[in-house]
Amino acid sequence: MTLIRDKAFIGGDWVDSESGKTYPVFDPAYTNIIAHVPEMGESDTQAAIDAAQKAFGSWRTTTAKQRSEKLMNWFNLIMENQSDLAALITQESGKPLAESIGEVGYGASFIQWFAEEGKRTYGDVIPTTAIDRRLQTIKQPVGVCAAITPWNFPIAMITRKVAPALAAGCTIVVKPAEATPLSALALASLAQEAGIPDGVINVVTASHGAEVGKVLCNSADVRKLSFTGSTAVGKTLIKQCADTVKRVSMELGGNAPFIVFDDADIDAAVEGALASKFRNAGQTCVCANRILVQSGIYDAFAEKFANAVSNLKVGAGLEPRNQIGPLINRSALDKVESHIRDALVLGARRLTGGASHSLGGLFYQPTVLADVTPAMRIASEETFGPVAPLFRFEDEAQAVAMANDTEYGLAAYFYSRDIQRCLRVSEALEYGMVGVNEGVISNEVAPFGGVKASGLGREGSRQGIEEYLETKYVCFGGL
Ligand code: ADP
Repeated sequence: MTLIRDKAFIGGDWVDSESGKTYPVFDPAYTNIIAHVPEMGESDTQAAIDAAQKAFGSWRTTTAKQRSEKLMNWFNLIMENQSDLAALITQESGKPLAESIGEVGYGASFIQWFAEEGKRTYGDVIPTTAIDRRLQTIKQPVGVCAAITPWNFPIAMITRKVAPALAAGCTIVVKPAEATPLSALALASLAQEAGIPDGVINVVTASHGAEVGKVLCNSADVRKLSFTGSTAVGKTLIKQCADTVKRVSMELGGNAPFIVFDDADIDAAVEGALASKFRNAGQTCVCANRILVQSGIYDAFAEKFANAVSNLKVGAGLEPRNQIGPLINRSALDKVESHIRDALVLGARRLTGGASHSLGGLFYQPTVLADVTPAMRIASEETFGPVAPLFRFEDEAQAVAMANDTEYGLAAYFYSRDIQRCLRVSEALEYGMVGVNEGVISNEVAPFGGVKASGLGREGSRQGIEEYLETKYVCFGGL
């Protein structure tokens, strides 16, 4: 594997931590150590901010076209290295190889998209209110940015932030998830090879996010923080950013409903639910967390769905035919087990799975539970694992009320062949994203983001770059 880098990346240099400490990165399928990376702290993070601040002075004065060319070089190098990067993602996150290959393409698509969008950050000429004045707006980069990212998409969650930042003329310090620093460092290495100048991208590795996070949040030089992760950590970061009145983008937790109405195409709904629920072993923030099925088709759907789930192949992600990899760590497995235990005690029925997998380690059987009710923990908490709970509902109003009965509002899905219902329900769902007869909806051209406790701001799409731009109003007088 040529892309493994075991140093952090600051100001164009591959560096150790000032303390000299390192921490191990594990492969969750085999639980062996893949590499050791620097355990960075306060002074290292400050050095990265300083490097980003220095680089901002010149990067901001390049033209959008020049930045676009560098971004396209980076995009091309990532695609040339797609299989090596995918293997790295699988090694450190456990994700099945086919999904990792997909993630590299998906992650790279944001770089290509924002290389193009960066050239279209138009301001306005505003019709004047006084004959001796002319009014206009221009768009300028926010400044030095920080990105704190999760392990479940080790590449895409970084490119979705770094690409619009760089396209806008910002520089950035990335703190990747502790479990998946190697994908981030490989990306940085390709960025360097692509000719992206020193200090424009910096990667700080650490086994605990809190210390690095505090320095990033407290720094007056860092003008924006973009975070993807849990709602609990997101709330802490928003508070920490208050003192410097930083701009924040937050992609936080979800509790996605997946509604199947009586008039749905059941086979299509089964296929959609399978893709939405079991991608990355259920470890994405847009994975269906609650499957709500109307009573008229409940039994038929449950039987077909449980049958499809029981056929999913579990095993190490590097083995190409496997569809469900290991969970990321022991606490993820514990959460899955405790949700299932709680549901079964309160009367849920196990249709398939419901136990550790015979492979042992961090593998768990893909599971379907029927007769799940809102009183069970699995109804209100994000499970983040390969468990599909089936709820029953009687009519549309009840389905919408159940779907919206959560503090979260990221993604929702529903299946129906009634056009009026499709419009009504898509408008009534209190979510940032809705899939209608689709279980997987994310791409670089559409806005990704949530409402309520699921976050602030949007990534991807033409809106994604606005998060990294300030609008300046300029009034020319005395004409
Ligand atoms: P997940 O459950 O997906 O791991 P987390 O919110 O715990 O979600 O982690 C997402 C990212 O936030 C990771 O990069 C992690 O290191 C970082 N992180 C966790 N706690 C903090 C914190 N207190 N301050 C800053 N970053 C943190």
